[in-house]
Amino acid sequence: MVSLIAVTKAYHFTAMKHVNQRRKGVAAEPYINHLTEVAELVAVATRGNDIDLVMAAVLHDTIEDTATTMEELAAAFGLRVAELVAEVTDDKNLPKPERKRLQVEHAAHASPRAKMIKIADKVSNLRALGSSPPAGWSKARIAQYVAWATEVVAGCRGVNAWLDNEFDKALTLVCGGEIS
Ligand code: ZN
Repeated sequence: MVSLIAVTKAYHFTAMKHVNQRRKGVAAEPYINHLTEVAELVAVATRGNDIDLVMAAVLHDTIEDTATTMEELAAAFGLRVAELVAEVTDDKNLPKPERKRLQVEHAAHASPRAKMIKIADKVSNLRALGSSPPAGWSKARIAQYVAWATEVVAGCRGVNAWLDNEFDKALTLVCGGEIS
């Protein structure tokens, strides 16, 4: 039961932190939808056996996109969860192209759980591109994002076959699998 309380706390914490954020797509879904989706993906992938992973997934964008520190996460959810969130957090002091390049570079060296969050994150983003692409994104821009996400995921494959397959399905959804 302690775990259930911790998980619900993580959901509430992330909902409050991201309260004013929306997804980039034309539907402008609440940002929390992305977080619940990523958490569900890793929960299903690990058959509900990894509570820390689910909490880290639901919190995975708090340090990067809200005023949240790793210390705050560690105090509320424990060091393992906080470290996992930190592991999937980009350094926002770097310019965006550099951050994107580093995601590709770091993917292969990430811990197995960080790899799972990264794949689930890209699954969610690709699905969103398929169902609700951002206004003004050309086909070329979408293709560019998909190619980059595919590169990041290439470094993360091999930990969880189900997640790898969900990514391939999302890829087919958004571009018919024709990105190389
Ligand atoms: Zn995310």
